[in-house]
Amino acid sequence: MKLGVFGTGYVGLVTGICFAEKGNSVLCADIDRNKITLLNQGVPPIYEPGLKELLDTNKKAGRIQFTNDIINTIANSDILFIAVGTPSGEDGSADLTWVYNVADTIGKNMSSRKILVVKSTVPVGTNEKVKAIVQKNLQERNLDITFDIVSNPEFLREGNAIEDCLRPDRVILGCENKNAADVMMRVYRPFLTEESQVIIMDLASAELTKYAANALLATKISFMNELSRLCEKTGANIDFIKKGIGSDHRIGPYFINAGIGYGGSCFPKDVKALVFSAHQNGIDTPILESVEKINHQQRRNFIDLILANLPKKSKLALWGIAFKPGTDDIREAPAIDIITALIEHGHSVLAYDPVAATNAKAFFAAKSQDFIKNIEFIDDQYEVLKGVDALVIATEWESFRDPDFELITKALKLKVIFDGRNIYRLEDISAQKLTYFSIGRPLVKTNLS
Ligand code: NAD
Repeated sequence: MKLGVFGTGYVGLVTGICFAEKGNSVLCADIDRNKITLLNQGVPPIYEPGLKELLDTNKKAGRIQFTNDIINTIANSDILFIAVGTPSGEDGSADLTWVYNVADTIGKNMSSRKILVVKSTVPVGTNEKVKAIVQKNLQERNLDITFDIVSNPEFLREGNAIEDCLRPDRVILGCENKNAADVMMRVYRPFLTEESQVIIMDLASAELTKYAANALLATKISFMNELSRLCEKTGANIDFIKKGIGSDHRIGPYFINAGIGYGGSCFPKDVKALVFSAHQNGIDTPILESVEKINHQQRRNFIDLILANLPKKSKLALWGIAFKPGTDDIREAPAIDIITALIEHGHSVLAYDPVAATNAKAFFAAKSQDFIKNIEFIDDQYEVLKGVDALVIATEWESFRDPDFELITKALKLKVIFDGRNIYRLEDISAQKLTYFSIGRPLVKTNLS
């Protein structure tokens, strides 16, 4: 099939490449010239495991092309996927400017029958609005072209995006008629495993399903974080609570880790957008508002814990900047707030992340001189420890899980670790000459003499 994808970000690029991998002819269009130049040189503008290899194979096979030419992409594709960003507006609503811009351009330029598929995460009613924008443009051009609209929210997880895309556990299709559903089934059939479910529903339910999924996952995280505070006050250990409740099959072991809260480009903005959308419809959202509040407090508590246990003008090593392992995405990453607070309080930071340092460097370079002077990015997990007082862990990258504790202990002047992700077993730490602060678990303070 001839597929056009608008937006070559984390979603558009990965899905475009995966569509090509399944034998479709794919045109990926973006307004960002820099991204398209890189992609035409065979360089992915984002880090995602396995992406480069799949990009190379499909470029070589001639199944995928990258372009800034939006109009040509519309003309030469039968199905148009909208995968542009929907960031938070100032009031918490989803900013739909990019989605509507693409819809407008499609309406102004399409001259044959198409299926329009909205992949971006959008509030209830957006697909109807996209349809209206296209219809209005067609009317103004005196064209009587039929088109279908499909809501097909994306569920891939950064860091596991290729696998999620190639073998989805579910495909949600909000469709208005059987024709659109049949064509979409043809697109997705090659991706389905025995366990995959294709769930066909109306547009509004499909739009809301995406928000419901992210909001529920965020709720699980905030629930555990709230409990972790009670653990800290009472001497209970959140690890045991997690094991105890996770073994109940009605609850399950996933997404019940206590830590420094959720970040990234989806959960924070989607919870906010869902609250906004509910309020617009006269519905109160006390659960979701608490989820957000707890998430914010959790990050703040960790920062306060570090600040309360450091002498003035300390030098800290920080492991992990990305909002989670497997990605270079630093949008709403807890590490960014932690670094910012440490520097604002007169400390300095040496930071290491396997793939996200370039994005973080650009982020802090755009801030004041104070930041530029007080943060340094080091390209090695152990080099970054040289001459520092303490270590902060902000992302649970695999390479941090089983480190050389002797080396760490030797390097840290104050022999202190602040672990925001609970990546070490307390028994392992107790065997070291370290003070270890983690989340919802007893403090480990071994004999330092
Ligand atoms: P992103 O910011 O990484 O990429 C968006 C891209 O759209 C950018 O490259 C931008 O230049 C491009 N763009 C903007 N206007 C355009 C236009 N008129 N024509 C063509 N391209 C245009 O965003 P993302 O992380 O890929 O997210 C895209 C959508 O998917 C969002 O709604 C997001 O909520 C949703 N989503 C994201 C994830 C994720 O893990 N990142 C997962 C599921 C769903």
